[in-house]
Amino acid sequence: MSTEGNESHSLLFPRLDARSLQMLQSRGTVRKTAAAEILFNRETLQHGLFVVLSGSIELVGVSNGYESVISVLGQGEFTGELTQLSGRRSLVSCRVSTAGEVLEVDRASLHHIMRTDAVVGNLLLNAFVQRRIYLIANAVGDAVLIGSTHSSDTLRLRSFLVRNGHPYTYLDIDEDPDIQSVLDQFGIELADIPVLICRGDVVLRAPSNAEAAVCFDLNAGLDQTDVFDVVIVGAGPSGLAAAVYGASEGLNALVVESNAPGGQAGSSSRIENYLGFPLGFRDRSWRTPPTFKRRSLARDCPLLEAPVRCNASSILIGSNSTTEV
Ligand SMILES: Cc1cc2nc3c(=O)[nH]c(=O)nc-3n(C[C@H](O)[C@H](O)[C@H](O)COP(=O)(O)OP(=O)(O)OC[C@H]3O[C@@H](n4cnc5c(N)ncnc54)[C@H](O)[C@@H]3O)c2cc1C
Repeated sequence: MSTEGNESHSLLFPRLDARSLQMLQSRGTVRKTAAAEILFNRETLQHGLFVVLSGSIELVGVSNGYESVISVLGQGEFTGELTQLSGRRSLVSCRVSTAGEVLEVDRASLHHIMRTDAVVGNLLLNAFVQRRIYLIANAVGDAVLIGSTHSSDTLRLRSFLVRNGHPYTYLDIDEDPDIQSVLDQFGIELADIPVLICRGDVVLRAPSNAEAAVCFDLNAGLDQTDVFDVVIVGAGPSGLAAAVYGASEGLNALVVESNAPGGQAGSSSRIENYLGFPLGFRDRSWRTPPTFKRRSLARDCPLLEAPVRCNASSILIGSNSTTEV
């Protein structure tokens, strides 16, 4: 799974130039590292971004149950992926391979830099997006879905994970005879299919989308004490446009979505007849959260079903007591 020697390595792990490094240094702190020290692991939420100043660090991922080193980063290379922006649980771990020094930039400072410095912002965003594409292509992450092509709930969960850009390993009971041993290991009956295994230990039997979102901390970046100027229900093209232009007018905007950003347009393989695009387009990237970030909407889109309730002092949005705004 390693990217070393791989053509795409420099795309995934570009080296910072002097100016970009200086910009990050202005808001980061330098710390010494010891060999084998863990900088963050797959349980860590809202960790900072690390730039290698000397020594080296390695990114470790789990795919199909096996742990392996994705890449070793040297001087001028940096960690980070889309979870860095959303505040969700990291999909990889990072440990020090050779002692040295790193620059640590916390999430708030990173968001500030990405909003205010287009050159550094674009460099980081591009690397984060490329890394997520790599993780999805190599099924690196914390999700295993066991299902069947004959099950509509399997299709629903696959679509939910794909449309939310969450990497997962798919095991099909109809195609892989070895899956029975996985089912036995967790005491799962065939009637429980589809089964979602989160982080190797939480087993959900035929979960709803909301249960899957909770299990993967998909709403972890949401600060429920925040006060919003505008809350938009539905992250289809209309909701996304309202959020982007609200945010660009200085409003603290939040979009909540019960399924995945993109709405109906996100489920279409080709958009035709769209103003300004006479030939139509297939590119899915405009419908996903990363595009959101580029427009300075510095928060992720929480996955909430949104019956709206009001009390004397506030409006509550959210389907259950675990997540409300
Ligand atoms: C297959 C297909 C192809 C298409 N092709 C084209 C095309 O070529 N050109 C074109 O211009 N248009 C096309 N359209 C139409 C276009 O996609 C829609 O007009 C557009 O998506 C409407 O955007 P919207 O934001 O108003 O609503 P939607 O896209 O329907 O988005 C609404 C969102 O709100 C969410 N939501 C609803 N209720 C709640 C709730 N209670 N809580 C939280 N979230 C909620 C939904 O999950 C959804 O994501 C196509 C549509 C489809 C299905």
